[in-house]
Amino acid sequence: MAEHKALSHTDLARRGLMFILSSPSGAGKTTISRKLLETDEAIKLSVSVTTRPMRPGEKDGVHYFFVDDAEFDRMVEEDDFYEWAHVFGHRYGTPKGRIRDALKHGQDFLFDIDWQGTQQLYQKDQQDTVSVFILPPSIAELRRRLEGRAQDSAEVIDARMERARAEISHWAEYDYVVINDDLDECYAKVREILHAERMKRTRQTGLIPFVRELMG
Ligand code: 5GP
Repeated sequence: MAEHKALSHTDLARRGLMFILSSPSGAGKTTISRKLLETDEAIKLSVSVTTRPMRPGEKDGVHYFFVDDAEFDRMVEEDDFYEWAHVFGHRYGTPKGRIRDALKHGQDFLFDIDWQGTQQLYQKDQQDTVSVFILPPSIAELRRRLEGRAQDSAEVIDARMERARAEISHWAEYDYVVINDDLDECYAKVREILHAERMKRTRQTGLIPFVRELMG
């Protein structure tokens, strides 16, 4: 008789989640996203589509899909976006791609999107969405970090400070809020949130057969 192989708790099927990180620019979100993506194979970046020009060091298809206005219009018309919004005078959107299908197979996605995109994703798919807002320790520190980038002109920095205040006003719409005083600590907290959310009963779709077997 073939030996009966028990289901192991380590390989239970799980539904993926949509993990949203938002913050005003300069609060450290990009670094935290990068660290998460480098260290955690189960989470992939949802690469957004944008009409803004490429910055030095950016790659098409890696940081964003860079398109012109006509192409963005076409994608809106064809209902290719989960959500899209105007940010800093350009348009940004989350392409649907294969997200829904991949979630079913346990793939998590990281979304680096603003509060407008977060609201829209919540409306579309509340069950799978987990949102984290990252706050800078102070406004002075935020300005210092934006100036330190030296990529943007003074007017752009002023505009971003203005936007930052507007973005921060949406903090209470998020599931979690983390203050980025120390980058490593902030990253550790974000990772703990992700790990705990993966263990939510409702995401562990393999529990039903596992418990059935436990109970004989
Ligand atoms: P940046 O131009 O600095 O890369 O991004 C500017 C802002 O656009 C950031 O706050 C970022 O979170 C937001 N953003 C990037 N991609 C998307 C997207 O697909 N949808 C929405 N709603 N916002 C996005």
